[in-house]
Amino acid sequence: MLTLQGKSVFRDICIGPIFFYRGREREAVRRPVEDKEEELGRFARAREEAARQLHKLYETTRARVGEANAAIFEIHEMMLEDEEYVESVRNLVNTQSVNLEYAIQTTGENFARMFRSMGDDYMDQRAQDVLDISRRLIRILSEEGGEDLRDLIPEEPSIIAADDLMPSETVQLPRELVLGFVMRGGSVNSHTAILARSMGIPALVEVGGELSDEYDGLNAAVDGYSGVVCVEPDEETLRLLREKKEQSDRHLAALHLLKGQDNVTRDGRAIRVFANAGSLEDVDAACENDAGGIGLLRSEILYLGRESEPDEETQFAFYRKVLERMGGKEVIIRTMDIGADKKVPYLGLSPEENPALGLRAIRICLKRPELFKVQLRALYRAGLYGRLRVMYPMITSPEELIRIRRIEEEVRRELKEEGIAFERDIPTGIMIETPAAALVSGELAGMVDFFSVGTNDLTQYTLALDRQNAGLEEFADSRHRAVLKLIGMAAESAHRAGIWIGICGELGADVSLTEEFLRMGIDELSVSPAMILPLRQQIRRLDLRGGKRA
Ligand code: PEP
Ligand code: MG
Repeated sequence: MLTLQGKSVFRDICIGPIFFYRGREREAVRRPVEDKEEELGRFARAREEAARQLHKLYETTRARVGEANAAIFEIHEMMLEDEEYVESVRNLVNTQSVNLEYAIQTTGENFARMFRSMGDDYMDQRAQDVLDISRRLIRILSEEGGEDLRDLIPEEPSIIAADDLMPSETVQLPRELVLGFVMRGGSVNSHTAILARSMGIPALVEVGGELSDEYDGLNAAVDGYSGVVCVEPDEETLRLLREKKEQSDRHLAALHLLKGQDNVTRDGRAIRVFANAGSLEDVDAACENDAGGIGLLRSEILYLGRESEPDEETQFAFYRKVLERMGGKEVIIRTMDIGADKKVPYLGLSPEENPALGLRAIRICLKRPELFKVQLRALYRAGLYGRLRVMYPMITSPEELIRIRRIEEEVRRELKEEGIAFERDIPTGIMIETPAAALVSGELAGMVDFFSVGTNDLTQYTLALDRQNAGLEEFADSRHRAVLKLIGMAAESAHRAGIWIGICGELGADVSLTEEFLRMGIDELSVSPAMILPLRQQIRRLDLRGGKRA
């Protein structure tokens, strides 16, 4: 038995033969051509056919795993029209008199190399996208064109191994023949990984070069809980994994039954269980997992991985989509939490010695109101399309809120003067994520409609412990009494002022603390979509009658 470690994308177990998927790709061979016009004509026709295929793929993927997951194929359609890409292919044909297939392959590889050299996750995905559309075009030109990948994998359900798959391959491989995926490369946040996750396929990425072609046809077991693939597992390993799978299937079935149920303790206390989201995929996952609403939408995702600031229309369209997708459920959008580890180079912020203690989140908004106002305008306009609440991050004092209120009022006045429709009445809250905010929560509570505790930062700032520094793990104690005391203080202040208080940091999902949180008076827990049902299960087991725990 050989054991290889990778990173898990979806927590499930599968056992079966490994099959090394090689796709349909062939190296395009360089050939000299005389009739360049003919090549360019073929290029235009191939792009048209690719756009047709991608549109169809978008529709089928949307039906299978939702609009957010299908959006990648809309991006591919747009990339087909990207001027630089198209020009580069044309140039190679025109200046080097090479065949179209070779020009497309070279352009795809050059663009992918350039994107990868930027060293960020977002651009790595663009690299994969440009390779995917280039291969599609070459396939169309070779007239192998076929979209059906069924003939490329065995008829017996298998664990598909590869260097990496393209997003289009992931969704097009027949689900009933795929037991799992193991990739030498890839990354946990790639489109392929996201798609595998939404399709519920146990999958490992970053297994590395030890995943050798020689294992083709051998029996294997993928453990998506530990991120391990065992090649030729022994009987004892198989027995343990089968047991683990049965247990997890039972657990998942029990959780599934909780869909549609209330989050109510045995003694009748109802809690709001909401979802944290950072993308439309998360919003879909929130709906699938029966979230009561969105308790924290990290709007800074709109600002990250771009060349320039997202304009009002882009922001408005995104917020509106989220609100519409959540129907009449509450959506709490947090204004941009940029700074610290979330770097946005185009804002031209100066480098800082201590960025976590520097110009971050609301501080940027207050120093650069022109930036803040764009976001508020987009939010107020989107507020007409659902039940929006706005939340401000990194608050430390009432004075900051007074400055925010002035800017809010200016934005409302300007929108009114411009005759633009917007929602006037949007409840606002603040994050309690600095010890200062918890300590002056009595004053803050009278100024807002709700509190939401950001335990990730509250822990970092209370314990003076950098949340990004993995080397400090032995000192990290997210259940430190100091942090819990501050949460308790904020809860008391909130209730005294008659407002509700939630927790949207990671600690909210720690079910071993749920009872303590409820006893403190926490009214809402906002957690990652996958934690909603486990949390509901825990809440329904609790009985708060009887003695208070320390
Ligand atoms: C937190 O600090 O707990 C929080 C929810 O915000 P973020 O993790 O985005 O800083
Ligand atoms: Mg925070």
